[in-house]
Amino acid sequence: MDKIQEKDQQYICHTYKRFPVSLVRGKGATGYDEEGKEYIDFTSGIGVNCLGYADEGWAEAVSAQAHTLQHVSNLYYSQPDGDVAELLCEYTGFSKVFFGNSGAEANEGALKVARKYGAEKHGEHCNKVITLNNSFHGRTITTLAATGQEVFHKYFLPLTDGFKYVDAGDLAGLEAAVDDSVCAIMIELIQGEGGVVPVSQEFVKRIEEICRERDLVFVIDEVQTGIARTGTLLCYEQYGVKPDVVSLAKGLGGGLPIGAVLMGEKVSEVLGYGMHGSTFGGNPVACAGARYILNKVTKPEFLEEVKAKSAYMKEKLEAIPQITGVTGLGLMLGAELAEGYTAAETAGKCAAEGALVLTAKTKLRFLPPLTITYEEIDKGMEILKKVLSA
Ligand code: PLP
Repeated sequence: MDKIQEKDQQYICHTYKRFPVSLVRGKGATGYDEEGKEYIDFTSGIGVNCLGYADEGWAEAVSAQAHTLQHVSNLYYSQPDGDVAELLCEYTGFSKVFFGNSGAEANEGALKVARKYGAEKHGEHCNKVITLNNSFHGRTITTLAATGQEVFHKYFLPLTDGFKYVDAGDLAGLEAAVDDSVCAIMIELIQGEGGVVPVSQEFVKRIEEICRERDLVFVIDEVQTGIARTGTLLCYEQYGVKPDVVSLAKGLGGGLPIGAVLMGEKVSEVLGYGMHGSTFGGNPVACAGARYILNKVTKPEFLEEVKAKSAYMKEKLEAIPQITGVTGLGLMLGAELAEGYTAAETAGKCAAEGALVLTAKTKLRFLPPLTITYEEIDKGMEILKKVLSA
């Protein structure tokens, strides 16, 4: 255990089971420890560092803003949050944006929009939200309630009331769950923490139809799938649907905390003065970074590169004999391992050999920086191959 790890063990609350790796710097998709040992990073800080470590342009944008105006309360106007909201709205056709600081917060905002819309349009009884079993929406008490995995609920009951869960793909279950008490349906398109499990297009399209027919709020949690991660700015573009609300975080900040709730026309006026807020929401430094990121990742050639690297990585993964299947889209990939291999043990061995990978349930999960080079992919895949064949 090095000095960084000793201090962490002594003073940091033990909610994270960390790998014995201490990173002190990075460049692109490669991180380094104090001894200069190299780690090919297929995690990007769980989908955050979309441009990799220490991207020059992003670091300059952030630094320039920090030297100019690092924070201003939401009682006054500043430039960067408006620029980010404009970029998001112009690209997607959404009407308004609320900024928070994390994925859970973005989902809290989305749920507040949904509940208020339901109560105002259909009456106070209309406040329930349908989410999916095996979903993940965050760690606050309300987003834990939205999360359809009991393992996360344990120890923290009672959670916020008003959620119903259905299985992804269970059309009959979905129809049965929708009644007059329901104001919204909220889903991930690829259940990330749930094991990189894509939800079928047929099911997502039916959710959209139900939301239109019954005037419900259709919420898509794009915290993990958003910001070019799947090869389009937002993953829903590939499903041929248009939600009323989208939550974003992770890659939008590129390394600084930010969350965003995108609101379509139907719900854009639901939240009025004093109904929601965040001291740090729309922070100029985080938004200066997000503005830089959006200007980059919305370029068609950038998105094409993500798709090309996805195909390349998928092929590499599928060629490894101990990998029995690959799921996901873009640079959000899950790899199922053959019997006798566990994801946790494999990830540990990869870390020791210099490749950082995530796990999701029984799978290895790959969320590399979108800017990862082919050379870095090759290096990392060689390490994985070596670990699995040892
Ligand atoms: N929603 C999804 C789909 C996520 O994957 C996550 C985090 O992994 C969250 C919400 C929570 O985000 P945060 O950890 O920023 O609160």
